Amino acid sequence: MYSIGVNFDLTYITAGIVDEKGNIIYKEAIPTLKYREPEAILKDLAALCLRIVEKNGLVIEDIKSVGIGCYGSVDTEKGIMIYSSYFKFKNVPIVSILQKYIHVPIKCENDANCYALAESKYGATKGYSNSIIVTLGTAISGGIIINNKIYSGKYYGAGEFGHHVIVFGGEQCECGRKGCWAAYASQKGLLRDAKIMAVRHPESMLFKMVNGDLRLMSFRTPFEAAQKGDKYAKEVVETYSKYVALGLINIVNILQPEAIAIGGRMRKIGDMFIDDVAKLVGEKTFGHLEVEKKTKIMLTKMDYDAVIIGATML
Ligand SMILES: [Zn+2]
Repeated sequence: MYSIGVNFDLTYITAGIVDEKGNIIYKEAIPTLKYREPEAILKDLAALCLRIVEKNGLVIEDIKSVGIGCYGSVDTEKGIMIYSSYFKFKNVPIVSILQKYIHVPIKCENDANCYALAESKYGATKGYSNSIIVTLGTAISGGIIINNKIYSGKYYGAGEFGHHVIVFGGEQCECGRKGCWAAYASQKGLLRDAKIMAVRHPESMLFKMVNGDLRLMSFRTPFEAAQKGDKYAKEVVETYSKYVALGLINIVNILQPEAIAIGGRMRKIGDMFIDDVAKLVGEKTFGHLEVEKKTKIMLTKMDYDAVIIGATML
């Protein structure tokens, strides 16, 4: 038997056929075209699922279940996408809509929660029954695993780590508040700070590497410039690591998981900052615990395909 897992993201909907060992045997993506009405998007999502079944010489009876990892908060009991900041989705009964087209059990869950679940079974946090995944990308999200299960909160809003405030009255966050962790430790926060530094110091490698065209700056630029010895880029990178660590310390002080793994787009260059972040978290966490009792800070082993695999585990 197989299951289908779907990563229902802002830009792409990716559906994969997953075997019983958690291997994706086939996957395919379509553009989400997020500004459309929910029904139109979900119809395409269902068609994609059915198409990949057929393409692989399977029939729907070979599929045990379909799991959807959604960008947004999800009422997992009722199968409702409650809210998504970038979609036109408000209390959309996605499971009952999809059930019109797909006649196998369907479950849905927040995408970061799916990520955390897959990672705890197959990835970096395997073996830890209490773990957390933090995804650092355009925004910051996360998933909490307690006793090997997703903790989603009473009203399914838990794990929104990006929106705890670390600077009172600080930078504007997408959520409407100021000073959220996401406004500093996301890829956006890093880029903002790197661009400010480049403008202030046109003599820096940060500025020269993009020939003064700040639009060309990527999240890799400050790290690459720092590696080449640019002192301004080093300052940007050090500050970024401190921001990442600051949020993680708060999480550890509140929840004390056994492990926190960092995923998301920043994971691609995670090797360049994870050691500094782990060191800071180890030093600053409350309690002066012995090393073996400290929360392990690491990078996730899986990429966004973990959402597909985690969705099949629902
Ligand atoms: Zn926020």
